[in-house]
Amino acid sequence: MTAIRIGIVGYGNLGRGVEIAVSLQEDMELVGVFTRRDPAAVDTVHERTPVHPMDALESMRGELDVLVLCGGSKTDLPEQTPVLAERFTVVDSFDTHARIPEHFAKVDAVARGAGTTAIISTGWDPGLFSINRVYGESILPAGSTYTFWGRGLSQGHSDALRRIDGVAAAVQYTIPSQEAIDRVRAGERPELTNRDKHTRECFVVLQDGADAEAVRQAIVTMPHYFEPFETSVTFLSAEELAQDHQSMPHGGFVIRSAESSPGTTQTIEYHLQEDSNPEFTASVVVAYARAAARMAAAGQHGAWTPFDVAPGLLSPKSPEQLRAELL
Ligand code: NAP
Repeated sequence: MTAIRIGIVGYGNLGRGVEIAVSLQEDMELVGVFTRRDPAAVDTVHERTPVHPMDALESMRGELDVLVLCGGSKTDLPEQTPVLAERFTVVDSFDTHARIPEHFAKVDAVARGAGTTAIISTGWDPGLFSINRVYGESILPAGSTYTFWGRGLSQGHSDALRRIDGVAAAVQYTIPSQEAIDRVRAGERPELTNRDKHTRECFVVLQDGADAEAVRQAIVTMPHYFEPFETSVTFLSAEELAQDHQSMPHGGFVIRSAESSPGTTQTIEYHLQEDSNPEFTASVVVAYARAAARMAAAGQHGAWTPFDVAPGLLSPKSPEQLRAELL
């Protein structure tokens, strides 16, 4: 078996996770990290991992089977995925849900034209949760699908807190409502608003001299982010924040609750609990890198999403092994 040769493009939280995840896969080898920064300034998890400048990609093209794109969804991936799909097999974790059709169209046009393969929006949401929403709706058409997120650290909401005057540092956790989950599990099929489904917990370090009550008001009244939710604000010291809030947990539930005939309730539940969101996401993205290598070898060119990738392609096992061991 020849190893699938992986390049990591962009080295933040997800890039670090991919470095670790590739080391656990026996049929993969990491060629290196490619960064826009000075490679000497990038500290990798494993000392042995080579770090190259981004423009080394072209000359190393023959040494790479799949590029795992680990840039941010806001500005990096909309630019990097189409550009790199012109010359490489790529996988990304683009997660701006509203812009996925637009991103797909751009990458698809490039990849079809160039005869390459690109799998976009892998990860857990979008990704594994999306697949479970499709399973639920397809199998049980007469019902409702519920997605609950958390308990998890929300990067976007934490950034919003840090932009408030008087805030020195902050994190925000999204908490799913146990009461709402219990009602859905019981087959009630309730109509739930955002406020019913989630609460928000904020941990905030104040700048010297800041007015705590004014900061609290600015948080709980912030439209879209906090105003629509039950929001708690806890003030703490920079030391406490550093000690107790460094990990990036996340997870959630996708629940399909439906009737297969009047009075016969059927429930499908999928639950993730992640100690580290980036390490979990990276593990998913890396399995999709294997699928991308296989689809490229089979001549399946263009852009694809997790909806289009057969589960067996994610596994290092052969179809024969999968039929014998897991079917
Ligand atoms: P991040 O840490 O902010 O990294 C994004 C990029 O910023 C990196 O690729 C890196 O590019 C650059 N960077 C990182 N650290 C830097 C530093 N210290 N100074 C300057 N530049 C730095 O973002 P992330 O947490 O890895 O997340 C990446 C994306 O993953 C998110 O935007 C999100 O779209 C996606 N995601 C998807 C899912 C899902 O379920 N689908 C879940 C979680 C995350 P260079 O090395 O080129 O500088």
